Amino acid sequence: MFLADSGLDILVLDKKSSPGQGQNKKAIGGIRATHSARSKILIAKKSLEIFSGWEEKTGDDIEWYEGGYSYPVYNEEDEENLKNLLEIQQKFGLNIKWLDKEEYVKKVPMIKKEGLIGSTYSPEDGSASPLRAINSFYLQAEQNGAEFKFEEAVESIYTNKSKVTGVKTDRGEYSCKYVVNAAGAYAKEIGKMVGIEVPVTPDSHEAGITEPVQRLFEPMVVDIRPAEGSKNYYFYQHKTGQIVFCITPNPPIVGTDTNHTSVFLPQVSKRMLNIMPRLKNINIRRTWRGLYPMTPDGYPIVGETKEIKGFYNMAGMCGQGFMLGPGLGYYVSEDITGDISNEDKDILGDLSLYRDFSGSEALK
Ligand SMILES: Cc1cc2nc3c(=O)[nH]c(=O)nc-3n(C[C@H](O)[C@H](O)[C@H](O)COP(=O)(O)OP(=O)(O)OC[C@H]3O[C@@H](n4cnc5c(N)ncnc54)[C@H](O)[C@@H]3O)c2cc1C
Repeated sequence: MFLADSGLDILVLDKKSSPGQGQNKKAIGGIRATHSARSKILIAKKSLEIFSGWEEKTGDDIEWYEGGYSYPVYNEEDEENLKNLLEIQQKFGLNIKWLDKEEYVKKVPMIKKEGLIGSTYSPEDGSASPLRAINSFYLQAEQNGAEFKFEEAVESIYTNKSKVTGVKTDRGEYSCKYVVNAAGAYAKEIGKMVGIEVPVTPDSHEAGITEPVQRLFEPMVVDIRPAEGSKNYYFYQHKTGQIVFCITPNPPIVGTDTNHTSVFLPQVSKRMLNIMPRLKNINIRRTWRGLYPMTPDGYPIVGETKEIKGFYNMAGMCGQGFMLGPGLGYYVSEDITGDISNEDKDILGDLSLYRDFSGSEALK
């Protein structure tokens, strides 16, 4: 969308039959700039600007809802960790603060109060519908001049003297100067086509959605306490009333299995009722399973490779590809067209393929 807007000739090749049929539609729709490092905070802030202004700009309702995000804590160690992060987050302009127990209970009245210490609260975070958003972004990209070809799989990438010269698919061949590898869980396979190791390893995550009910609470609630089989649990109430929820399995379920299981619902219900007992009477409509395209440190891999000119990665979105996508699209377009400030270049530099991957995102 952004690249086409900048006047370049853009062709999008997708092996699936329509937009967002990879992992995008598996996302629960959470959008936050509440991360633990500069790159993701600033990129997600740009995304928030795009999501929140989208309806006014285009007239399309993507079900954006500015409910905020919250990380309630029930022990002192979590309290200290989150309060330490607040400093970094505020330094990069994130609107986030600490609420004590009474203040937080006013925001989320049904939260389990026993043992609750307080919570972070970032009111400008929110949510939107991944299905609606991706279709609207797709239409906007077409309007900007991008061409889309679906049901067309990339099979190899042509290079000459270490420069990209074209792409071969199962239907044809195209010449080009740039290839952007945005293949999500399959980014590693695309990297192999030019002999570049892109360390993206998918793992499986399940989610679910309830029937719609009247508004019960505003912010996403991220319960960072581990429990048997899961590292954390997060849920929010969508603009249209449904509660949408997800857990992070522990240990991770590495691989590309997207069959949803009978294990998930009993497991997640326990967590749900533990932190918000009032939800016991709500009906669950559907569960599903998708993939997080994970990197070793929890940060995306973005930028042109040194070895092959014109081969550009935009991969490894981990559990945040929906929320990072638009902001990253904006930054990447600046980078590829060369119309980029030193500051923005620096932000993308944090996501370089050539970093040592020894860091760790605290809020992945
Ligand atoms: C249960 C669950 C909940 C989640 N919740 C959230 C959330 O609340 N917020 C959030 O931000 N993120 C969330 N995520 C993560 C998010 O869905 C992913 O990070 C995101 O979809 C990755 O985006 P992507 O564009 O990199 O990959 P994808 O959306 O998977 O797109 C990759 C595309 O590449 C295509 N492709 C691959 N190989 C080829 C090839 N050889 N030729 C042609 N096309 C190819 C695929 O068909 C696909 O369309 C969640 C994920 C899951 C599973």
